[in-house]
Amino acid sequence: MRLSKTFIKTLREAPKDEVAKNSAFLTRAGYIHKEMAGVYDYLPLGLLVIENIKSVVREELNKLGCQELLMSALQNPAPWEKSGRFSNQEVDIWFKTELSSGGVLGLAPTHEEPITEMMKSYISSYKDLPLYVYQFQTKFRNEFRAKSGILRGREFLMKDLYSFHASEEDLDDFYAKVEKAYANIYKRLGIGDCTYETFASGGIFSKFSHEFQTVLPIGEDEIYYNTDKSVVLNKEVYNDEVLEELGAKGQKFETANAVEVGNIFKLKFKYSEPLGLKFIDENNKPQTVYMGCYGIGVSRLMGVIAEKFADEKGLVWPEVVAPFKYYLVGIGDKGTEEAEKFYAGREDEILFDDRDKRPGEKFADSELMGIPFRVVISDKTLEEDSAEITDRKTGESWRVKLDELFEG
Ligand code: ATP
Ligand code: MG
Repeated sequence: MRLSKTFIKTLREAPKDEVAKNSAFLTRAGYIHKEMAGVYDYLPLGLLVIENIKSVVREELNKLGCQELLMSALQNPAPWEKSGRFSNQEVDIWFKTELSSGGVLGLAPTHEEPITEMMKSYISSYKDLPLYVYQFQTKFRNEFRAKSGILRGREFLMKDLYSFHASEEDLDDFYAKVEKAYANIYKRLGIGDCTYETFASGGIFSKFSHEFQTVLPIGEDEIYYNTDKSVVLNKEVYNDEVLEELGAKGQKFETANAVEVGNIFKLKFKYSEPLGLKFIDENNKPQTVYMGCYGIGVSRLMGVIAEKFADEKGLVWPEVVAPFKYYLVGIGDKGTEEAEKFYAGREDEILFDDRDKRPGEKFADSELMGIPFRVVISDKTLEEDSAEITDRKTGESWRVKLDELFEG
């Protein structure tokens, strides 16, 4: 991408109301634009990051045989009334709206009810099970406080996966596979060593759920972990009874702030029962479908990765999520000419700073935007037939011969 052809403008300073590190840098670097508190637009660079995160999640879920679909944001109240969750007393973060012809609609904060209702059209026999479906979809939640930049939005992007099973054992098996897939996802996104699978409360139908918590000072959650980090709990379930159950009573625990980047639940019959999702088993008997649900905060993850790795100069993206691998700068007539040659055919990999600006400004923007490698081709580097590469993370620079640069 040629920077001269984009509408992106970097800012020297973050807007006053952008206090969180993630959104301050993401705004300054031209990745996001704020509509209002808790509501952000994703600009071309930001969208590339979101798509890269989605690709990693998609790959890991497709390996498990999950099928991708896309459900509506507008919600018919009927299935939600069956579970009791359309009530504002039960769920206090609803956005609701009205049809011009009369009647109330909801804006989906999650999708358990509509997916359960929908599957009544597609699941009838044990032969239809198991089934795993997921989507990347915009959720709406009327969060009382939207702070922490894109970590807590009133409109945000979630990956939600739902699984349907004929037996509890099958649900347990699949749940264990998702736990592994999630660990892979966070590892591939570069936050594996600071993201912990955490025991958390599971509502009324399962004792626990598992959250995936990334340790960060900005985190609104508090986690407790033992010395070897084999037992990690959310503060809300850190009590003697639970510690006893986990065989961790008497152990020493430390605490840290963390951000919830995923949450998985064994729902069992929680929604299939009230909504009447059944299948006919091998003995021709009707049975209720077992369900699980598995969320990942996709836009929140972008904020977590930004927040985690940023330094005083700006963003520092791991290569998998970076919008581009290289930030290219040509200096001088010859340098610019060679830079054009390097750029040709690599438009998806290179963010080419061909703007009419001083090298110093370009370097500062390359650091602010957090592109993994800066490539500078100047009349000086050309004296050695080479380009200079700088690693954004370490700040290290080295020379590479032009013919190797064009090969690599
Ligand atoms: P929180 O406790 O942070 O409000 P939650 O437990 O209500 O989150 P879930 O219903 O478990 O959220 O949603 C699945 C995932 O979606 C969460 O693990 C989180 O990563 C993400 N998420 C939830 N709420 C938001 C939000 N307001 N903005 C951005 N991401 C969110
Ligand atoms: Mg949760």
